[in-house]
Amino acid sequence: MRDKGGRLKKLALALIFACACGEDTTDPDVDDHPADRLVLEGPEITDLLGPDGVTEALPSTDGFRRLGLLWDATEEHVLEVRSSVDGTTWTAWAAPEVVSVEMLAHAGHVDAVAIVPEAGSMADDPLARWYQLRVPAGRATPTFLVIEPLPDIPARLPPDEVFAAEDAADEVTEIAAVNRATPIGTVKVHSRADWGARAPRCASGTHTPNRATIHHTVTPTNDSMTVPQRLRQIQRFHQVSRGWCDIGYNFLISRDGRVWRGRGARRIGAHVSNANTGNVGVSFIGTYTSTAPTENQMCQAARLLRRLHEDYGGIALNRTDVKGHRQFGGTSCPGGALYSRIDKILRKARGGCSVD
Ligand SMILES: [Zn+2]
Repeated sequence: MRDKGGRLKKLALALIFACACGEDTTDPDVDDHPADRLVLEGPEITDLLGPDGVTEALPSTDGFRRLGLLWDATEEHVLEVRSSVDGTTWTAWAAPEVVSVEMLAHAGHVDAVAIVPEAGSMADDPLARWYQLRVPAGRATPTFLVIEPLPDIPARLPPDEVFAAEDAADEVTEIAAVNRATPIGTVKVHSRADWGARAPRCASGTHTPNRATIHHTVTPTNDSMTVPQRLRQIQRFHQVSRGWCDIGYNFLISRDGRVWRGRGARRIGAHVSNANTGNVGVSFIGTYTSTAPTENQMCQAARLLRRLHEDYGGIALNRTDVKGHRQFGGTSCPGGALYSRIDKILRKARGGCSVD
């Protein structure tokens, strides 16, 4: 009876929130990274800022209403942003609305339309096409910076607790299903509780997996943050700045070879534009443009893919069913040094591998 009461209460809350925002609260069929994203590390950030700490006007080909920002810095409030529709009339400088901060890792956003212009007006609310960043004098320059021009300001979502019971039930079922031996070794998936995940903020649809796509998270590869800290930053950015139900990926794999549960296999993720249904997003934590994934990471990815293959016969261990994100177009994800190893990972998934 208690279960039933809890479920009714949850349903009532979900209905209230669905009515309050008047929006479909499942995720749009979206990509993990917008096409004109900028990713900068160390000296690249200093170069971009120039000697006076202000970037030149940077273009966004697709235009934006929100600039999503992820940055590592030793202090808060080191960034300010302004934007422009025409490259001539600029908004006032504004600090990002910070949605997550833990140690170095920050996430947040600045809305182009929410900033009062210094001169002129934002007539008809057109998309902003230009932005500038500055670090005020005397403040610590970020050591890692991702800038994502986003076309929409998402609707506010209900609080985490609405979907908490559903999330907990999903977790128990799926961890038991995934953490079993495969013909090439046992998979151990760390639970959402292991990384301190928040509950989803809306209900992602369910699907039967029939393919998988490899991504990278585009976070520092030699990371001074712990994996749980980094995952919490990504989740908050996806939930609040991007407005998604949950972290976009179904599973994530850290450089030490640990596998982490994102949405799990049976929830539709948010990682490949217009191709999320049936598609299990497996994201390697780090940036693999030039750095190769570790052997442990590849072997555990292989075991996870084997598990998915065993459980969902529709996923063949070949390049038709297991793709790199860039094969869908519009992105370099998962980076050249990981993309070039997908065949090797699939060989391991078919034939086996060992871990340290
Ligand atoms: Zn991707």
